[in-house]
Amino acid sequence: RAKAEGRGRACVFVPEDEQRTLQRVNTESLLREALEGQYFELYYQPVFDLDDQRIVGAEGLIRMNHPQKGLLAPGDFIDVAEETGLIVPLGEWVLEEGARQLAQWHQEFGCDITLSLNVSSKQLQNARFAGRVATVCEKYSLPAGHLVLEITESMLMHNSDQALEVMKQLKQLGCLLSIDDFGTGFSSLSYLQKFPLDVLKIDRAFVMDIEANETHRALVKAIVSMSEALKLRVITEGVETEGQLRCIRQQGCELGQGYYFSRPLKAAAFNERIRSSETLSV
Ligand code: C2E
Ligand code: MG
Ligand code: MG
Ligand code: MG
Repeated sequence: RAKAEGRGRACVFVPEDEQRTLQRVNTESLLREALEGQYFELYYQPVFDLDDQRIVGAEGLIRMNHPQKGLLAPGDFIDVAEETGLIVPLGEWVLEEGARQLAQWHQEFGCDITLSLNVSSKQLQNARFAGRVATVCEKYSLPAGHLVLEITESMLMHNSDQALEVMKQLKQLGCLLSIDDFGTGFSSLSYLQKFPLDVLKIDRAFVMDIEANETHRALVKAIVSMSEALKLRVITEGVETEGQLRCIRQQGCELGQGYYFSRPLKAAAFNERIRSSETLSV
């Protein structure tokens, strides 16, 4: 009986850990399989000028399209990719695919939209990263100024020295640098100044309740005016409703992305979206 109880008790504590480990191991082999089988797909969420609602850019967002498991969002595998270092080959694929697509847009539409790609801290710590970006831009004859690399605020805070070096190299190439999820990492303005940034993305958390939350409204307004002083462009993330749009515009925001405008799209659907917006603006 004691034995049974002991086993029962163990069941309460152990399996949770084991389950997590098992899940991590499963995700890791899923990632390896997906890298091997080329199961990744880059989706594109348009970035809009809030004044005339024209597309000025896109953010590339990775998905895994697994033949058995279906479509998986980054939340299902990015953490494990970071922990295992698989984010490096994954990031390589994103860079290559994004650059190829951007070059095609430039050619097809003669437009000069920019493409933002999310970069992980592991990539930023890699001394060869800037070189890879240079090579890919050359391969697709892309002006580096049309490529924006997004780095989360929390990542900057944890890897400042390493990251700073690679960021300087990327700036030298002509790439634009963006701070993602801003407002969640508690970094100060003076801290931000030491990084060569071009764009600041206000985290969705501030937009979500902006109509009801006076503090968030004031914060967004303050971020916008400080960004002007620091010569940063501001993009507001996660705009879902017309009310939120009205409100962020009142706080001075000029660029935005979110479900109100468009979800992340497959390349073909993004093309359609550009075509129809061109027609509208004629
Ligand atoms: P992120 O870079 O902050 O991207 C924005 C996330 O918010 C995306 O989720 C996007 O689909 C979602 N989103 C956009 N508009 C709205 C909205 O109006 N409402 C709501 N509720 N959500 C919205 P997603 O695609 O699941 O990506 C999650 C995170 O995964 C990204 O956050 C980014 O940190 C990471 N990620 C995505 N692709 C890559 C990649 O290629 N490399 C790396 N290292 N990380 C990536
Ligand atoms: Mg991002
Ligand atoms: Mg973000
Ligand atoms: Mg986010």
